[in-house]
Amino acid sequence: MSTHIKVIFLFIFGGLLFPVFPGMGQTKGFTVVIDAGHGGKDPGAIGSSSREKDITLSVAKKLGALIEKNHKDVKVIYTRKDDSFVALDRRAAIANNAKANLFISIHCNAVPKNRNSPQGVETFILGLHRSKDNLEVAKKENSVILLEEDYSQKYEGFNPQEPESYIIFEFMSDQYLKQSLHLASLVQYSLVKNSGRINRDVRQAGFLVLREVAMPSILVELGYISNRNDEKYLKSAVGQNSMANSIYLAFNEYKRDYDKKNQIFSNEPQKQSQNTISSENTIEYRVQFLTSSQKYEANSPVFKGLSPVNCYKDGTVYKYTYGSATDLKEIITILHEVQPKFKDAFIVQFQNGVRIK
Ligand SMILES: [Zn+2]
Repeated sequence: MSTHIKVIFLFIFGGLLFPVFPGMGQTKGFTVVIDAGHGGKDPGAIGSSSREKDITLSVAKKLGALIEKNHKDVKVIYTRKDDSFVALDRRAAIANNAKANLFISIHCNAVPKNRNSPQGVETFILGLHRSKDNLEVAKKENSVILLEEDYSQKYEGFNPQEPESYIIFEFMSDQYLKQSLHLASLVQYSLVKNSGRINRDVRQAGFLVLREVAMPSILVELGYISNRNDEKYLKSAVGQNSMANSIYLAFNEYKRDYDKKNQIFSNEPQKQSQNTISSENTIEYRVQFLTSSQKYEANSPVFKGLSPVNCYKDGTVYKYTYGSATDLKEIITILHEVQPKFKDAFIVQFQNGVRIK
């Protein structure tokens, strides 16, 4: 155990120096690692007509594409982009070697066939599991290392099935923990409110892959592949697009907060004044609810009482939006006001008055 602890301490304090001073000599770039769970000889959880490894890969690629398209300053790295087997320590090494700022691991949950399957999304951060259920999820996800050669040596005697192996998971730097929790809350909120998933909360458990990365990190269990309703959604294109978009919206919010903090640190290291944040380049969210070739009057009945309504022209088409917010939670509340009237309404982003796609 003593070697364990030494290794973990080294690992924590070695990594800690880096993110505490975000403005100091750091390049402007931001790197996010997107980790599609399982792959190759490891299918992950198996549903009645789908496999976890396919769902995680699809959502991971969609999420990455959204980030790449909309954040030119962000580098997206995938731990896998096809159906290949990648060991857990390799996934972590990819992130650590890239000195990534964020690590997002994507999974689907499952319970054995003889149990009634729960339903819903849960977002995990590294920690000591507070409940037996959380330990079970971690055990299941960690057990993929049994497919790796020399796993006992590679993970310093870690045995995924042994509760004592999890004691060391208590050590995580506060800084990472706080940032991980922040992202986890945003992702969970967005998947529940924007994608309409059942809320199974942000949780803590001892995931090996999260332990090995030296940066804020989360692991999302998108839903239960062992639940019929969840599986149907998880494997559908509509579901995958929506979940990728929800994680993306949460990423936006996290990145914006990160940029604000960096700006404060690098420009005004002493004052930390909130006023140094320029409103330029701020992302604005609106709810788009209608597209038409016609230009309608502000009080037109086609708006079903929504007022005031904004309109922008995209090619030859008029697009109508309602509400405006710079905060994700706020815009999701507005989306919920609009959805009973326009069920296909969705969130769009503007920067300096121009829609970003
Ligand atoms: Zn998994």
